[in-house]
This record gives sequence, structure tokens and C-alpha cells, in this order.
Amino acid sequence: MPFPVTRTIAPKPIPSDVGNTFGAYFTDHMFVMDYTEGRGWHNHRIGPFGPIPVHPSCSAIQYGQSIFDGYKAYRCDDGIIRLFRPKAHLERINRSTARLCMPAIEPDTVLDAMVQLVGLDRDWVPHQPGKALYVRETMIGTEGFMAVRPAKTYTFMIFLSPVGNYYAEGADPVKILVSDKHVRAARGGIGAAKAAANYSASLLATEEAKALGHTQVLWLDSVERRYLEEVGTMNVMLKVGDEIVTPPLTDSILPGVTRLTALHLLREWGLKVSERQIAIDDVLAGIEDESIEEIWGLGTAAVVSPIGELTYRGRSRVVGGGKIGPTTAKLYDAITKLHTQAGNDPYGWRVD
Ligand code: PMP
Repeated sequence: MPFPVTRTIAPKPIPSDVGNTFGAYFTDHMFVMDYTEGRGWHNHRIGPFGPIPVHPSCSAIQYGQSIFDGYKAYRCDDGIIRLFRPKAHLERINRSTARLCMPAIEPDTVLDAMVQLVGLDRDWVPHQPGKALYVRETMIGTEGFMAVRPAKTYTFMIFLSPVGNYYAEGADPVKILVSDKHVRAARGGIGAAKAAANYSASLLATEEAKALGHTQVLWLDSVERRYLEEVGTMNVMLKVGDEIVTPPLTDSILPGVTRLTALHLLREWGLKVSERQIAIDDVLAGIEDESIEEIWGLGTAAVVSPIGELTYRGRSRVVGGGKIGPTTAKLYDAITKLHTQAGNDPYGWRVD
């Protein structure tokens, strides 16, 4: 059943090209629903995009009881707009809510809301290849109180942003600083949830890396500062000889949907794929003896992002001649075709 819609009386001009921006533009409408303990989710509605009133002492502001998720809607080459793997993202959102003691959402209801909202603001979906409409879902604890405990009221919202390439480099290799001081997420903590607090935890290391001319940070584990975890806001993969390696999922790694997609494709191509721990020393040795010629990040925003240079303890090493490698390029090509090529949905991952 469609949700009630209040259309904006002040539609904004739709940008003809959003450039390389990520989150610089927001569409005209948003979906909102509220939760009250004992009553459940209610007051589902679509209305004009804009600020929402919140209590200054709500748990989202005071204690970070806030989670989100995000994925993209693409304008396919037959002109039809399709959401890519929204169901996998909805499953993840309910793992995030459980970790932060927040109420689960009802996936089918939220999927219906997404489809209706994207349909309403469809003219905002970019036409240029590589650009898309980013769909952001957010849940916040809204009850005004002071004790440290889960809130009894919540708001869930979906809003949309037409986006370009996440990195100014586009699909060009990026320079990465290995962080052996700060960690993104602790063992036993909330790193596997898409919790707002994880992103606060990442800011300082990322700002320090940028000030030194790097694009992002490679995160190591919180216990030994030895094993690879993630790169920036992406999962990480390497080609070691003829084996593709990615760290196994733990409670400090976000289970990326792009990672899942890549693992599926690589296995289908018959490649040797291992989810195993890999130590930074072995990565550096592998870059030097050229058994590692490709390292890449995987995430919704940049899709597949080749790593061209890795800096660790003041020493930089160029990966694979600083160029995008064949496996990285093949993955990028295959995943982007699953996003936008008409008829190319062999696994039933799209929703239109
Ligand atoms: N790790 C982190 C920390 C992230 O924020 C993201 C982006 N959601 C990812 C990995 C990649 O996840 P996905 O492929 O689902 O976008």
C-alpha cells in the first residue's frame, strides 16, 4: 500500500551534473516513520526533505544511538531505475539495530517506501555513467532522557542524494596510509554495525592521512595492529600470487555488500578465493617481491577502488606500478554492468 505523500511546494532545480560530489545535493522528498515502545512503528509518511526536530537530550545526540545504511539506485541503459541489492542492505540494517539495542525495521515495508520515494524523485537519478542516486537510511534514538540506556522512541528516515565518484581520483589508484596508531573499531565493539560512532572514530586518523597527502587510511586490527581490517570506508582485497585474499568478517569489520558481490563473482570465475587474516608485514613483503600486484577497496560509494601506493611507518611502496590491475579492472567492469546493464541480473539482486 502506498504511503501518504505531502509534496514539496518548493521543488529545487535538479543539477544537470553533480560532478564528483558525494552528498552535496539532496532530492525534494524523504520518508519518515516513528517508533514507540509498546506501539511499534507508526506514522509512515513521505514529505518534503528538510530538518527534523529532535530533543536536545535524545540518545542519538548524547550517546550515539544512531545507525545508518546506504546503497544506490542506478539509471540502467534501458532507462529504467533499479535499486542494487537493497535486500542485503536491509538485512544488514537489522544487524546494526540489534547491536545498538534499537528496534528492527520491517524489511518489506521499508523496501516499499524506498521504491515509492525513488519513484517520486526519479528525475534526480543522474544520467551519466558512474553516477547514481545514493539512498541513505538512518535510525536515531529520539527519546529525551539522560540515563544511559536504550531509548524508548526512534525515528527512521530515508533520503536521497545524487552522487558522482566518491574519490576525486575516480577509478584511478589512490594513495593509502597504514594507520598503526588509531584504530577504527575495537574487537568486541560495534565495528560490524553501521553505527554513526564508528565514523567519528575514524575522523582523526583520516584527517591526519589527508594532511600528509594520502586519500585514505588502511585500518589494522585493534589488538596487535598487525592484521588488515578495512581501507577507509571500504572492505579490502588483495591478489597474492594466484589467490584472492580478503580478511574474514569479525566484529570489527563491516560486512560489505560490495565485498559479498565481489566474492560471489570471483568464485564463479573459478578463482582461488580465501577469507583469511593477512598481516601488514606479509603485504609489504609481497609488494616488494611482486607477488602482490593488486590491492583494492570495495564499497557502495566507489564500487572498486584500486590502491596504487601504501605508506607504512614513513615508507611508501608503489603497488602494481601504480596502475589499475587486471583483476581489479575486471571486477569493476563486472559489478558496474550488474548495476546498469539492461537484462544483466543473473542473481535477482535488483529491484525496480
Ligand atoms: N566498510 C565500511 C566501514 C563502510 O562504511 C562501508 C560502506 N558502507 C563498507 C565497508 C562497504 O560496504 P558496502 O559494500 O555495503 O557499501
